[in-house]
Amino acid sequence: MKNTADTRKMMIITLRLEPPGLYGYVHELIRLAFPTAELIQGSSGEGDVHIFLLQNESDFEIVTNGSIMREGVFFDHQEVTPSHTDIQEHKKNLKRAAAICVYRLLQSCSADEINPYGILTGMRPLKLVHKIWDRYENLTLAAQMLKQDYLIREDKVGLLLEIAGHSRHLLLQTSANFKKIGIYIGVPYCPSRCYYCSFPGAVLSDYDKEIIPFLNALEYEIEVLGSAFQAGGFSVSAVYVGGGTPTVLKLEHIQKLFNSLHKHMVLEPEAEITVEAGRPDTLSLEKLQILKDYGVTRICVNPQTSDDATLHRIGRRHSWRQIVETWQMIRAVGIDHINMDMILGLPGETFQQNQKTIQDLLRLKPDNITVHSLAVKKGSDLALTEGKSEVNKQKHEIIQTQSYINDLLASHGYQPYYLYRQKYAKGHSENIGYGLPGSFCLYNIMVIEERQTILGLGGGAASKFINPASQRLTSVYNPKNPADYLANHLELTNRKVDNLKALF
Ligand code: SF4
Repeated sequence: MKNTADTRKMMIITLRLEPPGLYGYVHELIRLAFPTAELIQGSSGEGDVHIFLLQNESDFEIVTNGSIMREGVFFDHQEVTPSHTDIQEHKKNLKRAAAICVYRLLQSCSADEINPYGILTGMRPLKLVHKIWDRYENLTLAAQMLKQDYLIREDKVGLLLEIAGHSRHLLLQTSANFKKIGIYIGVPYCPSRCYYCSFPGAVLSDYDKEIIPFLNALEYEIEVLGSAFQAGGFSVSAVYVGGGTPTVLKLEHIQKLFNSLHKHMVLEPEAEITVEAGRPDTLSLEKLQILKDYGVTRICVNPQTSDDATLHRIGRRHSWRQIVETWQMIRAVGIDHINMDMILGLPGETFQQNQKTIQDLLRLKPDNITVHSLAVKKGSDLALTEGKSEVNKQKHEIIQTQSYINDLLASHGYQPYYLYRQKYAKGHSENIGYGLPGSFCLYNIMVIEERQTILGLGGGAASKFINPASQRLTSVYNPKNPADYLANHLELTNRKVDNLKALF
């Protein structure tokens, strides 16, 4: 495909930061305002935008002075914040003051809003909300802090508080027992590659050659981690089998995988077990029956859109009709919950297609609907073709569509219960999981909030170990690329066993 992204002239932004370490606090914000620009630290006179920041601290206060110059227009801002006697709190104040100052500067020379989440640029804004809630137990104060101290837009503050309210009970109940952990199994293969996918080596070309060694490595992980896990007296509250598309596995291999899981990991009878079956072309009645027999409680079948032309355009080899047939099979087999995903901002789609998709989904009445905003990910065909400048396209349309979907889902009884953000998401928007009451996915809440240890096994799986005393988080990442995973899984399994033992 023609690479148009590289032919555009790159904007240059020069940064003079005192101390230079401020860069770590502000570069993500600058990137939100200028997604395609090159950032250069130093005092060079060259550049299209110049940002200057100077931070001084005393026993009493932190004074941050900043200025920005763009196309001959100059703005400045001063941020004064009290110092804190606690060193950790003081560091947070330094970081926040720098971010607020830069945010104000960027906003002053931009006609558009930089970020609806103010100075928060991370993937998990809800973590902050739950932390404030833990500390102050006062939602009015929490709302005030989110608006004033983090500059989050009022409607997003409302959304965050609503989601925190829906998820809080499950979050506190599950994290109260650190011996209950979550399991993620990554099967990094798909029948074809989606236009927006950044997963390396995702397309399965030779089943036996690729899947057999992969499953052997995965079973090794399950066995070794399972025995460490049992020695430590852990049990499982939720399992998520994702990928890729795990249902590309043949029937006998699905059975083998679940036999191994049930044998080595302590699955509570009430454990939630989710399987991603993103592509309906990988499912059959027989496979669904086997999944049901192995205790699977939740299936994700992800149309992304109900428009067949778009499905073809984004590289998915299935139709909306197949999605409906799959939905009928899942209901016939009697698996408790169905989740369905849709994506806003897909190439060629406007409000009309999104409106039709959400209405088509609602006719099926899945238990959960997850609404994503398309993210331009490095390595995807989307990024190669259109580049990061794509991020700001359709911004206002996506915001309006989200608001329409939010209201429509609320009127059908769905509640938003988890939220996360992705870098370079169209409209700087978020992904929101909605569910009918009683159908929320525990794994999704826990993986976003990072208050429960989650063991990741297989390709691209992230393990997060939460120390119960300090709440310190240690991560171990399995490679996404299947070849790298095979080459490194023995060493990575040992590291995970060591981290698990440290929690005993
Ligand atoms: S289903 Fe997911 S992992 Fe597979 S190609 Fe599409 S985006 Fe990538």
